[in-house]
Amino acid sequence: MARVNALDEHLPPLTRNQAAIEAARCLMCYDAPCTHACPTHIDIPKFIKKIATENLRGSARTILESNLLGATCARVCPVQELCEGACVLGTEHKPIAIGRLQRYAMDYIYGKGMNLFPPAKATGKTVAVIGAGPAGLSCAGELAKSGHSVTLFEKRDLAGGLSTYGIIGLREPIEVALAEVAMIEKLGVKVETGKELGTDFTMADLQANFGAVFLAVGLGATPGLGIPGDEYIIDGLEYIEQSKLDASNLVIGRNVVVIGAGNTAIDCATVAKRLGASQVTMVYRRTEKEMTAYSHEYEFIKREGVSFSFLTQPVRVHGENGSVKSLECLRMSLGPADVSGRPSPQPVAGSEFSLPADQIVKAIGQEKPSVASQLKLKTEKGFIPVNERFETLLPGIYAGGDCIRTQGAASTVMAVQDGKRAALSIHERLVARD
Ligand SMILES: Cc1cc2nc3c(=O)[nH]c(=O)nc-3n(C[C@H](O)[C@H](O)[C@H](O)COP(=O)(O)OP(=O)(O)OC[C@H]3O[C@@H](n4cnc5c(N)ncnc54)[C@H](O)[C@@H]3O)c2cc1C
Ligand code: SF4
Repeated sequence: MARVNALDEHLPPLTRNQAAIEAARCLMCYDAPCTHACPTHIDIPKFIKKIATENLRGSARTILESNLLGATCARVCPVQELCEGACVLGTEHKPIAIGRLQRYAMDYIYGKGMNLFPPAKATGKTVAVIGAGPAGLSCAGELAKSGHSVTLFEKRDLAGGLSTYGIIGLREPIEVALAEVAMIEKLGVKVETGKELGTDFTMADLQANFGAVFLAVGLGATPGLGIPGDEYIIDGLEYIEQSKLDASNLVIGRNVVVIGAGNTAIDCATVAKRLGASQVTMVYRRTEKEMTAYSHEYEFIKREGVSFSFLTQPVRVHGENGSVKSLECLRMSLGPADVSGRPSPQPVAGSEFSLPADQIVKAIGQEKPSVASQLKLKTEKGFIPVNERFETLLPGIYAGGDCIRTQGAASTVMAVQDGKRAALSIHERLVARD
């Protein structure tokens, strides 16, 4: 039981008093910079003002009008880099705790089981959405609000995408992601789980039965490292997933090595450390300057007691009788910039050394979406190219979320915004056909 609690949501909800005090601090700025910094452009002073006047239903409605996944975003958004980072009070005082206030309003309506949007008048138009992560849910919900008949196909047993399976419980409990799925269903979206494009139906089936299609398939599994002993290495996404769905059966090593230094690697290290590993080391082939993890996440994981081995390239896993014994590595030095624009790691000859480990977890990014090749769509760096209306090269087929994110950090709020903007383009296409 103690093991499961170690990954419970770490920030407590604001009390009524705390929320009132925090809301009263907001200057209600005109042309508010926090709203500009939010990728979904939530009217932040407006929703905070409604909290200050104890109109929590109205506050939640303001949030949902811009972002249907307001409860997830309140928890997982890198607010330090977005709204709170832009808050005018941040320069000399503490920025307003926008994320926690947003959570306060959203938790209120979910706690009361409130439905804020009445059913829309049916248009008779049909749309298929593939993938029930943040992009798919946002697009499906927005289209349903416009009266279109939307079917959301999801290959997994549960909807929610990475909010359900990938984001650690410390940041977002699974119940929050599922409550949002239920809300999208109440808007009229038909969610069909266990249905995979390419296995259970084809794109031709969709084109024959729906007026438009939105692809929100995200990315794939963690790729292999291609080193001897690869088979001993655990996929970080599966590690996190089990910590959320089946923590009591998740085997945690005593001495865990996590390969990678992005946000997912930090999440894996957090799971290992919180669920009982005595030593957790993150291994990265560049230095802390080139890490892709947010700086607040890096500070967090250092406080958790996780160690780092920078300029380190894994080359071989040593195992014995099916168990991991150590990870053989090479020291690296940094050379000229590579295609990513970052200094390229170069092996230092004769620098082999071994890191003792009884569990090795990889978190080195995700494979590109395989749907693109199935559809014979030309890809850009492995991603699905779309125009400014989120339409792919195939007319009537739109895409958004991680599967189109060729640059910039992929995030939930960006996926939600893609879904919202794609829904508007799809709506315009459907009504233009009348
Ligand atoms: C470990 C981890 C932690 C993260 N933490 C954060 C965070 O703290 N904050 C943040 O903002 N972002 C975070 N992110 C990024 C964020 O989760 C993603 O950017 C976001 O989920 C993208 O949404 P999406 O809808 O595009 O894709 P996904 O969430 O990946 O959803 C895609 C869905 O499509 C389904 N699917 C795929 N192929 C098919 C098919 N052929 N047929 C039917 N269904 C299909 C999948 O099963 C999945 O449910 C994290 C990512 C990871 C991996
Ligand atoms: S920038 Fe800060 S003070 Fe101004 S409206 Fe936004 S949250 Fe309030």
